[in-house]
Amino acid sequence: MPKTIIISNRLPIKVQRTEDKLTYESSEGGLATGLGSIYKTDDNIWIGWPGTYFTDEAEQQQVTKDLAEQSMYPVFLTEAEIRDFYEGFSNETLWPTFHYFNQYAIYEDTFWEAYQQVNQKFCRAVMELANPGDTIWVHDYQLLLLPNLIREEMTESTIGFFQHIPFPSYEIFRLLPWREQILKGMLGADLIGFHTYDDARHFLSSVSRIVGLNTAQGLIDNGYRSIMVDAFPMGIDDEKYASLASSEETKSKIEEYREALQEQKIILSIDRLDYSKGIPQRLQAFELFLKEHPEFQGKVTLFMLVVPSRDQVETYRQLKETIDELVGRINSSYRTITWNPIQYFYRSFPIEELSALYSIADIALVTPMRDGMNLVCKEYIASKLDKKGVLVLSEMAGASRELADALLINPNDLGQLVQAIHAALTMPEDEQTMRMEHMQDIVRRYNIHHWVEIFMNRLDYIKVKQQSMA
Ligand code: UDP
Repeated sequence: MPKTIIISNRLPIKVQRTEDKLTYESSEGGLATGLGSIYKTDDNIWIGWPGTYFTDEAEQQQVTKDLAEQSMYPVFLTEAEIRDFYEGFSNETLWPTFHYFNQYAIYEDTFWEAYQQVNQKFCRAVMELANPGDTIWVHDYQLLLLPNLIREEMTESTIGFFQHIPFPSYEIFRLLPWREQILKGMLGADLIGFHTYDDARHFLSSVSRIVGLNTAQGLIDNGYRSIMVDAFPMGIDDEKYASLASSEETKSKIEEYREALQEQKIILSIDRLDYSKGIPQRLQAFELFLKEHPEFQGKVTLFMLVVPSRDQVETYRQLKETIDELVGRINSSYRTITWNPIQYFYRSFPIEELSALYSIADIALVTPMRDGMNLVCKEYIASKLDKKGVLVLSEMAGASRELADALLINPNDLGQLVQAIHAALTMPEDEQTMRMEHMQDIVRRYNIHHWVEIFMNRLDYIKVKQQSMA
């Protein structure tokens, strides 16, 4: 029976070695939840890096055996591969370029070599497991070459590709020295999905100008196959967040926070440490807000969670310093004996605490300079059981295309951001409820299960269409 193979850089599990023992911790991420309905059924399987280096062959065999019980198959990467392929090409070349921060991009041949080699390594893993007739779904920017590597080995296979980060305009994408190889790698797929129509449009424009193929109506004709390109905005597991919000654990956390924060209005900000998230700009806007609206001093607290990420990389280290300094400056200028304007945390939080924060926050301030989708804002909406609360959302986040009832802002426009914070803090409750209901409707309807279903349906559709055109 044909099966489905999912491939991503990381498996939805973290394997760790503790005192000569192997431990397996499942990921709670949305992608793992959404794809759980697929890879945990029949003979379906998920291929990816298990998150730890294993050099000992016996240990590799043990990990492979243990993961097989959970329908997963590991690709073992070396430290040098993680450095050059993952931290290097993926995160220091592709990530900044695709997020319009090309001034941070490093163009390094050794990174590119490693990127090609690791994509080939993933391809070998696929070849060990794939049979003709299987459906293959490749995920994200670490594996852009994989669709075509698989296609060269199995010309008839069904391959879907989804990119979870933005695809930049041609003027930015063309800066990459390996632009043509990258596009040709992606074009091995039958269906190529992005979060927004703009991403899809930018991709089509690059394909037409760099590869020279015809791209009418979202279909690319490469002379052999018709390749479909479309937008599939990813959703979340809304039910999980709604039920978490009403759980006993969350409720007791809410009480604890309420007691500590008293009558304070709470503005919530949650991101990974990343320059694409616009954290310094958000802090500057909050500082300006306090200055221009002194009546809110002592009455509002910015709860800012920054989840550590990539802090070995120089740009990220510098960003962390900038944030630390800004928080220090704002707090020292405005704090009183009984009030701290910013509660800043540089660590990750358990999901019950996130749920409590989502529940009590009067405002979620989600202001990335660029974001493929942004799931935090959808989690905030799904957690609002009382339908109160206001979302301030950057136009540069993919989610802004769906959530028209948020207060949409340009994150470079500090004045607009200040106005939005003020508007959110003073918004009448009935308006909050009306906006929140609309947004909850969307988050519920276009949830993660719907996303998986429409992507898979589209992939079937394009295969049938290809056959009818042959
Ligand atoms: N998150 C988490 N631990 C934390 C804070 C956040 O696991 O302490 C999660 C959050 O719930 C969300 C994800 O991290 O699901 C961030 O996803 P998003 O799309 O907003 O941004 P990304 O980090 O993927 O760029």
